[in-house]
Amino acid sequence: MNIHEFQGKSILSQHGVRIQRGLVASTAEGAVQAAKDLNEQTGTSWFVIKAQVHAGGRGKGGGVKLAKNYDEVATIADQILGMQLVTPQTSAEGKTVHQVLIAEDVYYPGESETSEFYMSVLLDRAAGRNMIMYSTEGGMDIETVAEQTPQLIFTETIDPSAGLLPFQARRVAFNLGLRGTAFKEMTKFVTALYQAYVQSDASLFEINPVLKTSDDKIMAVDAKVSLDENALFRHKDFLEMRDIREENPIEVEAKEVGLNYVDLDGNVGCMVNGAGLAMATMDLIKQAGGEPANFLDVGGTADAARVETAFRIILKDPSVKAILINIFGGIVRCDRVAQGVVDAYKNLGDAIKIPIIVRLQGTNADIAKELIDNSGLDVQSAVEFQEAADKVQAVLT
Ligand code: GDP
Ligand code: MN
Repeated sequence: MNIHEFQGKSILSQHGVRIQRGLVASTAEGAVQAAKDLNEQTGTSWFVIKAQVHAGGRGKGGGVKLAKNYDEVATIADQILGMQLVTPQTSAEGKTVHQVLIAEDVYYPGESETSEFYMSVLLDRAAGRNMIMYSTEGGMDIETVAEQTPQLIFTETIDPSAGLLPFQARRVAFNLGLRGTAFKEMTKFVTALYQAYVQSDASLFEINPVLKTSDDKIMAVDAKVSLDENALFRHKDFLEMRDIREENPIEVEAKEVGLNYVDLDGNVGCMVNGAGLAMATMDLIKQAGGEPANFLDVGGTADAARVETAFRIILKDPSVKAILINIFGGIVRCDRVAQGVVDAYKNLGDAIKIPIIVRLQGTNADIAKELIDNSGLDVQSAVEFQEAADKVQAVLT
């Protein structure tokens, strides 16, 4: 589950990570009030207005702007709220901005220069360990840094039983070229950041940029956080951070009815029981020259009602040009599923205008095939995997 920058920062702050402080607002008046409150809390008189959407690169898209007085706060907030923010990480139509974060300006001039760093904590799947990835090249697109100057990206792998050790925190500060107060601040920062990551069962904390202020404080200016959904039961306070306006509406609906659905870009919808078979089916579709439009695991109980719900969900995606149903009848009997397909087809009436290929294998597969073939509907049955692939290919060409 992804959360907003302001929510990520509140988790960071609870774990002792210094953050660029701010308050959220959803109207221009609210933004001015937030700025006034922030002025009282921090003494700041310059503010950054930051669009709160689940996508990075907001600065490039005009979603992060500096305001030097309350009038500018009102004008900029009014401009950003409700806009369709297009960034390098959104689709072409962008994301609607419902909230802005009014944050203190932390790039004030002072005794030393400000510097921006990159830092993230994530799981290194190959090593099976958490890792801190960091770079002197903050504020930039890290993928570009990785491509052009990979030597400027450092990593620190953490032993799960020991946690982040003090010498590792010092090595991070050293590699970032820090001295004196800033060095000490960085060791505290990285230690607290790692704690925040571990204790919130996150899969990612990406802070870009981490700022060294002109008075040598180290703070998080941005926060991109992904929480592990499977651990949410341990964090009841995180549940309210879900913002379904940011999520794919078809996926939200599928989740509500207990279907495991992931929207993809292709043209062949698929309905499969079991995640492994679903993955294999997606490969099959690709081999047949198609692209899967979704991943959909209907689960072990692929009964008529679930089949019908799954149909409805798949058909919501306008790019679906054909549907491949691939069900293995182990616990569930194939003839039941076949009857479910026939019933769903009839119930949905003219909602289905695209070819459907059904492959049922396992218990009572022969009866199932007969049911499909004699239904008089525009549904083709296949027994073998290859046969199903050929039929998908035929309807796509
Ligand atoms: P992103 O573009 O979505 O990654 O959003 P960020 O939160 O990283 O902000 C984008 C950029 O805005 C940062 O890299 C900074 O250069 C700039 N920025 C953020 N906060 C401040 C601030 O307090 N003052 C000034 N002058 N610039 C800021
Ligand atoms: Mn950023």
